[in-house]
Amino acid sequence: MLVSNILFVVAGLLLGIAFKGGMFLFLIPFAGVAAALGYMNLPRVPGGKTASIPVVTRAMRATGLSPAVAPEVRNMIKDDSAEYNEPNSTLKVNQVWARVDADIGKSTGDLLQGLKRVIPNAHSLILFMPSKNPREWGVRSHSCDPNTQIATDVKITENSGILSQLMKPDVDRLLEGDLMGGRSLQYYIDNPMIKSLVAVPILDRSKNRVGALVVDSLFPNAFNQATAQALTYICSNIYTLCFKSYSSAKNYVEQQQFSVLYHYQHQFFKTMSVKDIYRQIEEYLKENFYFDRMMLLAMDRKDDSQLRKDRTGRVVRCIGIDADQFMGKTFTLSDVGLAILPFVNNRSIERTFGMGINQYIPRINSQEKKNMDFRQLFAMPIITDASGEVTELVICLESRMAGRYMEHDMELLKAFAGVAGFAYARACQFEQGKDLATRDGLTGLINHRTLHENLRTEKIRADRQKYNIGVLMMDIDHFKSVNDTYGHQIGDVVIKGIAKAISGEIRKEIDTVARYGGEEFVVGLVDTTPEGMIETAERIRKAVSLMEVDVHQAEPLRVTISIGAFLVEPSFHDMKKAVNYADQALYKAKEGGRNQVIQYTELPIDTSEKEV
Ligand code: GH3
Ligand code: MG
Ligand code: MG
Repeated sequence: MLVSNILFVVAGLLLGIAFKGGMFLFLIPFAGVAAALGYMNLPRVPGGKTASIPVVTRAMRATGLSPAVAPEVRNMIKDDSAEYNEPNSTLKVNQVWARVDADIGKSTGDLLQGLKRVIPNAHSLILFMPSKNPREWGVRSHSCDPNTQIATDVKITENSGILSQLMKPDVDRLLEGDLMGGRSLQYYIDNPMIKSLVAVPILDRSKNRVGALVVDSLFPNAFNQATAQALTYICSNIYTLCFKSYSSAKNYVEQQQFSVLYHYQHQFFKTMSVKDIYRQIEEYLKENFYFDRMMLLAMDRKDDSQLRKDRTGRVVRCIGIDADQFMGKTFTLSDVGLAILPFVNNRSIERTFGMGINQYIPRINSQEKKNMDFRQLFAMPIITDASGEVTELVICLESRMAGRYMEHDMELLKAFAGVAGFAYARACQFEQGKDLATRDGLTGLINHRTLHENLRTEKIRADRQKYNIGVLMMDIDHFKSVNDTYGHQIGDVVIKGIAKAISGEIRKEIDTVARYGGEEFVVGLVDTTPEGMIETAERIRKAVSLMEVDVHQAEPLRVTISIGAFLVEPSFHDMKKAVNYADQALYKAKEGGRNQVIQYTELPIDTSEKEV
């Protein structure tokens, strides 16, 4: 009880006794002092005015914004059962939300407990707030007698009895003084006979109803307008409490996420390699996003298509559901998949899918495995030029849960894409510069100088591990007449075709192939045997002889090559000489009639097979 109330009671008692008259009259001044002290002890606000509960017609304006992260969002974030990838970042977003949740639960619980003590005749106090959707309120906190049971899973919806009136925009309060003979209310399990009730809505800043505070009593006329006004005032503070808690958690999460971004920015600029950037993007997504499938799509960099719609690209990274189906998949910009769209219009897209069958929208093109389980897709372009018009990469995230990717995730990924785009452009430029010095522009093969560098390093490794290197030198047969008959341009097409045919017959990333001269090629076969070397050379020779070049005539053009081979055993050390020996063998192959493979021998004899 308040000190002032005690003093008022004392004053009343003294006055009562004084009214008996006689000697008790001397108590009147004491009653006066007690009353004065009581008045002085009334609770005050800083203005010096006696505190009384202000009359609140509608909700108080509490904060400048509506909650950035609504409770329903928080619930969705918590449900992670469907996800293939759960981010392993140092920031446990779920834990942050759980903590806010617990804080709000504790504060509102304490508040209701306190209120129950000071509101005379209050039986139960219940705070309702939205659970999954804003039009469905569940029990957030409550305070009631120990021998009463609240149905904590009860929901208030638009037509769920007396309390649903609070969802109507014109109802500011419910005040029922004498519920006929007592009413059992839906939030009770044990149905006590409630005789009076006061309830007010919780309003957000835009006056949307986001919950309700209900107080009931077993006595009739337990509450009056002042109680309703007081509750309205308290509700506005509850709203502020929730809003501040969620927004401070959101700020914390964002602060952490952006510091992760800074980390990646540093990582990005430590590398000049395009492949490293793909890897870092994958790592970032795995660390920071939930998904059931993640794809990284890249435009081919050495694509000389004139029309943008003919440009090609491929999936360079993919993890999650059906990843093997999508990894390495190629596309052109005329494909209609959702993941291709950001390349075309430089904008991110978000799609939510229904449960309906036969509604599959291709992610890349119609020749892909259709998985109907996905509920949401989010694709973000990584723009690589300052004008914002060239998308070279696209990140595509998919989830089996609808509503997984919210505006905040999209903003975060956009910030990341900005950093990644800049780093990617820089790495591409660097690699292109490097290519100009090491690669041949027509075929994309390494050049003469790089070949010798590669052979030298390969030889060091071969010596350490004691294996052979096969060197093949090849030259197009009668190429002058191809140029003379069909022109240089067709000659170039033939050279490109042969480069591709050779590359197709050797082990990528292990063996090397170089354009050695105008129409000469050299192949270095790592860790091979004499038989293996000749077999590979024969395979190349056959592949070239089967190649057809369209020269707009009845018959396509066919060409052959001659090949000289030399096996570098561990005891042989001079790689320049090795190339030279292969060249000598090639000369013999030409002499012997062309379209054949000759292995170098000390003796000028060799009669390898001459026909396909
Ligand atoms: P062989 O069977 O003896 O090799 O006869 P060949 O006519 O191929 O003779 P050679 O190897 O000496 O031919 C070289 C010709 O290749 C000369 C040149 O016109 C042509 N050539 C070299 N580089 C290029 C190129 O980049 N493009 C085109 N179109 N032709 C090239
Ligand atoms: Mg030649
Ligand atoms: Mg030639």
